Amino acid sequence: MTAPVIGRGEARALDEEDELAAFRGRFVIDEAAPLYFDGNSLGRLPRSTPARLLQVVEEEWGRGLVGSWSFWMDRPRVVGDFLAEHLLGAGAGEVVVGDSTTVNFYKLVVAALEARPDRRVIVTDETNFPSDRYVLQGLAEQRGLELRLTTGDPGPAEIAAAVAGGDVALVTLSHVSFHSGAMLDLPAITAAAHAGRALILWDLSHAVGAVPVRLEEDGVDLAVGCAYKYLNGGPGAPAFTYVRRGLQEQLRQPIWGWFGAADQFAMGPNYRPAPGIDRFSVGTPPIVGLASVEEGAAMVAEAGVDRVRRKSLDLTDLAIGLFDEWLAPLGAELVTPRAIERRGSHLSFRHPDAWPICRALIENHRVVPDFREPDVLRFGFAPLYTRFVDAWDAIDRLREVLARREYEAFSSERSRVT
Ligand SMILES: *Cc1c(COP(=O)(O)O)cnc(C)c1O
Repeated sequence: MTAPVIGRGEARALDEEDELAAFRGRFVIDEAAPLYFDGNSLGRLPRSTPARLLQVVEEEWGRGLVGSWSFWMDRPRVVGDFLAEHLLGAGAGEVVVGDSTTVNFYKLVVAALEARPDRRVIVTDETNFPSDRYVLQGLAEQRGLELRLTTGDPGPAEIAAAVAGGDVALVTLSHVSFHSGAMLDLPAITAAAHAGRALILWDLSHAVGAVPVRLEEDGVDLAVGCAYKYLNGGPGAPAFTYVRRGLQEQLRQPIWGWFGAADQFAMGPNYRPAPGIDRFSVGTPPIVGLASVEEGAAMVAEAGVDRVRRKSLDLTDLAIGLFDEWLAPLGAELVTPRAIERRGSHLSFRHPDAWPICRALIENHRVVPDFREPDVLRFGFAPLYTRFVDAWDAIDRLREVLARREYEAFSSERSRVT
């Protein structure tokens, strides 16, 4: 399953053969800066984005002013259709872009609960992303619902068991776990949820732009995801919402804003939801952010998700090979599953001193991973700009930190942002 350990020269040779190598030059990269392994948290800036933003700001806003609303109005759906076609395996009119992932998640959870009024249980995993768990906790408390937790990256059997009682309205999980890097079996879990007549909502934040997603083929009901990780849309970029076409008219979301209303500019006395995906919009769309999402996503689409995925697996294979050879004997544990069909595009390593190790990598070795409580070090391998030699160097430097116990010189006290 894992590649044999290779030398640095061989890693360089892999870069020479890499069919995606040229994409690196299309990002703003300071070659003197530390090696960056946080593209799964905040993707890099595409070189084309600043000019595009300047055009939106100076021409569309500066000169066009309110006249630009004639085409701005369609932007959330235009960018949504692009994501649907190239990155999500969905149809036109099934995806809209706007608001944050957390807000979109809230809207879809409430819509799902109201579509299953006789059911009082929501299923998620105890390791799911905190914002998702907190939204669910809030709704469970406000509505007197039960939040049923699976433990640690469930498979279809755990989900089948969780929905067996016929009381589950909604199952919601992350396709790729932010914590472990595990990729869940989306098609089989979707089928298991449906067998219990529950709706399913996937959070694709750590999946979109890194692994192939086929929402339509897999019969997914609902999905949300983030555009500032592997899509390189920039900090706080607007997020996407997917609702299967056949469900759209049955669902109502809880925030009745004018951008989700039918006949918006009639400004009538009462809210009526717009037909189709538009009803999941709320207020005035973030036009500047939509442009940067489009720039970032267009580059991933140009590379092609299947090629991105192949390189991602080659990068993580290389890192896992080096891990087994060098790091396992020094007390680190690989948390991410080894099976390629269960692995996303970042690797998580467990070590009791993960936080000071993270600090030592940044301060002493100019390698930027990140840390997640309580003891996990994450390395994101964003395939469009991460080289094989970067992966080799990062694991080599981690080996030095562990072998020389460099982390003992760093405090275990956490900083505000980890
Ligand atoms: C990054 C991420 C989010 C981000 O949500 P925001 O509303 O943008 O803060 C949500 N869910 C998951 C699973 C994530 O990885």
